[in-house]
This record gives sequence, C-alpha cells and structure tokens, in this order.
Amino acid sequence: MSQTAREENSLEVAIVGCGIVGLITAAGLLRRRIKVKIFEQGQGLRELGTGIAFNPAAQGCLEMIDPGVTMALQFGGAVGLSAASGEDHHDCLRWIDGYNQRNENDPYFQKYYLKTNAGYRGIQGIRRDHLLEELIRILPPDTVVFKKRLVDIVDRGEGETLVLKFADHTMAEADAVIGCDGIKSKTRAMIVGPDSTAGNPTYTHVNSYPTVIPMEKAVLALGEYKAKTFHNHLGPDANILHYPVAHGTMCNVTVFVRNDENWPSDKPTALIGHRKDIEHRFKNWNPTIKDLIKMLPENLPTWAIFDLWDYPLPYYNKGRVCVAGDAAHASSPHHGAGAGMGIEDALCLSVLMAEALMKLRKTKLTKHQAISAAFTVYNDSRRTRSQWLVNSSRRICDLHQQREWADPEKCLKAESTLEEIRDRTYKIWDYDGRRMVTKALEDYDVIVSR
Ligand code: FAD
Repeated sequence: MSQTAREENSLEVAIVGCGIVGLITAAGLLRRRIKVKIFEQGQGLRELGTGIAFNPAAQGCLEMIDPGVTMALQFGGAVGLSAASGEDHHDCLRWIDGYNQRNENDPYFQKYYLKTNAGYRGIQGIRRDHLLEELIRILPPDTVVFKKRLVDIVDRGEGETLVLKFADHTMAEADAVIGCDGIKSKTRAMIVGPDSTAGNPTYTHVNSYPTVIPMEKAVLALGEYKAKTFHNHLGPDANILHYPVAHGTMCNVTVFVRNDENWPSDKPTALIGHRKDIEHRFKNWNPTIKDLIKMLPENLPTWAIFDLWDYPLPYYNKGRVCVAGDAAHASSPHHGAGAGMGIEDALCLSVLMAEALMKLRKTKLTKHQAISAAFTVYNDSRRTRSQWLVNSSRRICDLHQQREWADPEKCLKAESTLEEIRDRTYKIWDYDGRRMVTKALEDYDVIVSR
C-alpha cells in the first residue's frame, strides 16, 4: 500500500488473512474499484487438498460478489454433489444409517433417513487447494503480500490512515482494515480489547479427519451411486460424510468423532491422525462404513474442532476495523456452511464499501464517517444470522451423533428428531442475499443522513 498522501475520493482497504473469505472479499472490493492489499502471515497459500462445499445461498452471493469467483469455482473443479452420479441432476444431501444392520439377509443394508434437495447445481464441492489457486489467479498480481503477520493496528484518529504493524517490524497504511484472519484472529482482539473473553475459541469435543480418496476406491467400498453423491452416515458418537470433488475424480471423506476429554490449550489443534484409530472407533458399524474406512490413507490430517459458541462477539466492528468469516463467527462444520457464511459477509462488505466510496465522491462525509458507518451496518446485518449458525451447528452434531442410534429400541426416536435438520438446513439455503444487500444499503443511507 502506498505510503504517500492518499486521494480523498478513493478507498484503500487492508485485508488480514488470505483464506477463502479474505480472497473472496478482496475480489468483491476490487470489482467495485476499491484498492485492496491482503496481508497473510504464511509463506504461501495454506489450504489442504480436502474438500469444501458451497450451498445455494453462498453460491448466489458469490455470483453477486464477482462472477469471476463463480468461474474460479468451475475452473477449480467444482462439481455438484449429485452431478457425478449421472442419474440425479439435483444436488441433495442424504442422511443415512451408518451403524445398524437391520436386514438379516443383507448386512450391508442402510436405511435412508432424510434427504434435502438443493436443486440443480445447488451445492458444489471443490478441493480447497484448487479453489485458493484459482481465486488468487483472478486478483491483480501483488494483491497478496505473504510473510506479514499482523501484530497491531494503530488508529491515529480522524483524517489519518490506520497503521498495520507486522511481526517483521514493517508497517502498512490503509483507510480501513477487514480481519479475515480466522478463528485465532488478531484483528478480533483489537476490536473487543486484549483482555476480553469475547471471541475465545472453545473445544467442541469433536475431532475431524478430512481426506480425499480416488473415486474408484470410494466406488469399491460404497457402490457407484453412494460414492458419487453426498451421504452422511450417522451413528453413536460419530458420523462420516463424503461427496465428489475434482470434477468427480476424487471423493472427499470426512470422519467426525466425539471426544469427551478436554483439549489442553497448549496442544496443537491440527495433527496427524491414524486410520487404525478410526477403524477402532467404527468397529461395530455397518460393514459398508468399515469398507470405506479401509480405503482411507494410513495417516491423515486430524483437526480438533473449536468454535466461538461459548464466547460470541458482541460486535464485529470498531471504527474503521471489522472482522469477517471465521474471525467473526467460527463455527463447527456440521452444517458445512462456515465458509458460506463468510461469503455472505464478503458480499455485504463489498456493497457497503462501494456505497461508502460513492458517498465520499458525492457528499461531504469524511472517510472516517463513511467507513465506520459501513462497518456499523455490516455488523447489524450479519451478526445475528452468523452467530445462529454457530449454535445450530452444535445442535446438528448432537442430532447426528445420538447414542440412541446404537439402541434398537430408541433408534426410531432418534430418527424422529431428524426433521429438525431439514428446517435448519433450509434456513441456511433459502437466505436471500439480494434482500440482505437492499436492506443494508437502505440502512446505510439512513445512518449517514442523520
Ligand atoms: P481461515 O481459512 O482460517 O483463513 C485465515 C487466514 O488468516 C489464514 O491464511 C491465516 O494464516 C491468516 N492469519 C491468521 N492470523 C494472521 C495474522 N495475525 N496476520 C496475517 N495473517 C493471519 N464451510 C463451508 O462453507 N462448507 C463446507 O463444506 C465446510 N466444510 C468444513 C469441514 C471441516 C472439517 C471444517 C473444519 C470446516 C469446514 N467449513 C466448511 C468451514 C470453513 O472451512 C471455514 O469457515 C473457512 O475456511 C474459514 O475461512 P476464513 O478465510 O474465514 O479463515
């Protein structure tokens, strides 16, 4: 970012963190003629080759943020969660019995519990590393500066730029800062204050094992139809889901297991896990699942899942600084919608910052006023829904992993609770991003004309 005097009617935004939300927010701002730099602590892009899926609401927002992002998804190998099956053109989520063997003649029989239909190309799955590579390609060169770990932001007051300070003792200036720096966000600490408990991540008592396997292997274990369509297999204290990625050539498989122990604060949350431990946990499950687990690599990543459920943020902004994505509302992944929620944030921020730029050009508002009003409206638009996701995701995990699945007499009771998942899922999918934008713009007009 230039160190020289800035034009009064342009906006320069610093984004902290080059994850999915940071990159997509940058694309949205740049498309609206706002200057952007992303500062990332890592030496390069950090995502693994595991999968991520985008629901209909998130996809609608992506299109409004920048159609180039939708293209990046396609070039990165995104595939509809059912499209690879060749027979079912609507993308559906399917919840299925992963534990019991209810048919004496067929030990592999699995009862279908619930199906939700997201429509044609309703949910697209993609490998995370492929997505980031394609996203960075649509940004102008030099947008991202690596090896810049944010340690402080100094607000020098009205009429002055914000100063970002990095661990390597360098600095940068910006008119506004958007922290997309994930669950351990440093930007967040600057908003709520270093001594606040708000934003403290807590352990959800679930560990995940995400990986991808060649589609042929998944087909061997699951059969053609199940392997090529999204299925979430439920059982006591665990669940395992899978869906196609990489143009349908790979199957993304994620195992979730409950862990009643506490997670010591000094223990890393990302570790190497072992297939033999998963095999042990699933030894009483349906043979289909045991066959699938045999196809997983011997060693695979495992993540202890933390979220902001216990200590949500009271606000997402302070002056010309705000947080988005996991930095604002890190959720457990049981809705598969954490990044989707960050994409909704990115759309809201993009349109509000564009409106701030227009106000700078057409009214007497100062940059400070235009930006802080935009971030106030962003907070009002986004906080309730995104914090609901954090709560709902915990609830969904409880429903997935009910101990009653293992009790033939209580199994039906467990099944009867799943209707709740349908309601919660559609609350996410049916979100109208366009309405969010209209309402935010209206609120912005009201706030700046006071
Ligand atoms: P991050 O991806 O955490 O990126 C933060 C970036 O900031 C990192 O690059 C980091 O290095 C950088 N950073 C941190 N601190 C600093 C600093 N001080 N200075 C500079 N840089 C810094 N969501 C979905 O929508 N669909 C799914 O299917 C889905 N599946 C999931 C499955 C699993 C197993 C898990 C765990 C999550 C899943 N999610 C899903 C959630 C999704 O992964 C996250 O919500 C999303 O990746 C968050 O993106 P982000 O950009 O906000 O944060």
